[in-house]
Amino acid sequence: MMKMLRQQLIDTAIEMNASGLNQGSSGNLSVRCEGGFLITPSGMDYAGLSTDDIVWMDTDGKSSGPRKPSSEWRFHASIYQHHPESGAVLHAHPVSCSTLACLGKSIPAFHYMVAIAGGRNIRCADYATFGSRELSENVIRALRDRKACLMAHHGLTCYEKNLSRVLALAIEVEHLATVYGRVLTIGEADILSDEEMARVLKKFASYGLQDV
Ligand SMILES: [Zn+2]
Repeated sequence: MMKMLRQQLIDTAIEMNASGLNQGSSGNLSVRCEGGFLITPSGMDYAGLSTDDIVWMDTDGKSSGPRKPSSEWRFHASIYQHHPESGAVLHAHPVSCSTLACLGKSIPAFHYMVAIAGGRNIRCADYATFGSRELSENVIRALRDRKACLMAHHGLTCYEKNLSRVLALAIEVEHLATVYGRVLTIGEADILSDEEMARVLKKFASYGLQDV
């Protein structure tokens, strides 16, 4: 069932690790499908995955297939429930996002591209134990009107309308986190005004972004 989409999910997970966003199987990736979503299995190396290893779940957390879903399935399910426009969800532990997240820092509008996540900042979700309902609630709160958030003492989560776009968004947010981290080592970041960010957001909405 949905073999092509399963293969696309595996290919994007492999690409996610090749891009340097994630190490080993600590991240996870999902894609919306009929009746629910497909998600990478818990603790398996992406390179060795076959389409049968991908787990189908509904948004209430019922799963089918021989493998256990990623331990972070809860916030994937919640994102599909709360954001009807979401088609794919990516979670990873990229170095720069995780560094800021370990300091509990959100990314402010130090650069206009911060608007790519949907607003004038990229919030850092409060810490809660991995896989917990509380973590899922914290992530949903940080994603209000946003497509990406950091997660305190943990990493990054984002969603987009499809797999290629969610990977591109994650790479862009990690780049912003890297630059912001460097800015902080040199001085205090100069933050763009809400008025300017509103202008950028409006421009992003009217240009649309090309599929990659
Ligand atoms: Zn994680």
